[in-house]
Amino acid sequence: MAGKKQKTIPETPQETTKNKFIYTILVTILTIIALISGKYSTDHPQTNAPNQNITVSDAEFQVHVIDVGQGDSILVSADGQTLLIDAAESSAASKIVSYLNAQGITELDCAAATHMHADHIGGFPKVFASVKPKAMIEPVFQDSLIPTTKTYEKYLDAVEATGAEYKALKTGDAFQLGGAQVTVLGPVSEHASSLNNSSLVLRIQYDDIVCIFTGDMETPEEKTVLSTVDNSQLKATFLKAGHHGSDTSSGTAFLEQVQPEYVAISCGVDNKYGHPAESTLEHLKAYTDKIFITAQQGDVVFLYDKDTKSCNVITSGKE
Ligand SMILES: [Zn+2]
Repeated sequence: MAGKKQKTIPETPQETTKNKFIYTILVTILTIIALISGKYSTDHPQTNAPNQNITVSDAEFQVHVIDVGQGDSILVSADGQTLLIDAAESSAASKIVSYLNAQGITELDCAAATHMHADHIGGFPKVFASVKPKAMIEPVFQDSLIPTTKTYEKYLDAVEATGAEYKALKTGDAFQLGGAQVTVLGPVSEHASSLNNSSLVLRIQYDDIVCIFTGDMETPEEKTVLSTVDNSQLKATFLKAGHHGSDTSSGTAFLEQVQPEYVAISCGVDNKYGHPAESTLEHLKAYTDKIFITAQQGDVVFLYDKDTKSCNVITSGKE
């Protein structure tokens, strides 16, 4: 650019210095523009660039982390096929049903119980009374962990009443949800020592993006998953942080493989557990500043538009 001379007459030494100076400024400006646009960033490819114009009606792939207070309930939709991961406490069921209905959902293609604690399965009976699943999935877990709670009994009765096809899954199992490939990363086996560490961990790949849903997996299960699955499978665009952002989860070894670009944490306002932990937020911030917390931002909706290969997050805000 600077070598292309505009004039035929020889340049004075002052002019050459001036041209070099302009050239340096131009190169600096172009470099800054390229860096800002992410051209030289390998961690955040442009295909996942945020695009604030994408709405729920454009996005072929959607993740709705529903604000259910202290608990989890996450709607995943791929090409119109739906998966509800957990249904929070019983007290949140009416919110979940109205949320699903507002999305035009009257039947689920699949429902998943990540593990058998009340803040994940408590709402299923009331949800299934209105919105039935065609299939129900659970993790495998050992008999000694079978809960003796009323919540679990009601959950079993509700699943049976739906007549849904039922499956207990573990690492390596896979199924299709619309154009999305759902792969089970955990539990690795039925031998985990706690229900949290038997959590169903799902990897969902749709087009260029990967989302990971961890239930209440804690560091021991993270380590088991790391030592079992191909770690290149763990790199994710979106991560639902384990165990409501507790310091028992989202360990550095796990996050180092996931390198999330977007993170959602589902927890209640002023919850008695102090979720999310400051230390966990610090670990996550090493990878992204796009961390969304239901207790602060309400419903968190992650959207992916296949045509433009870009993402957006919309939050409802708190009432
Ligand atoms: Zn939980």
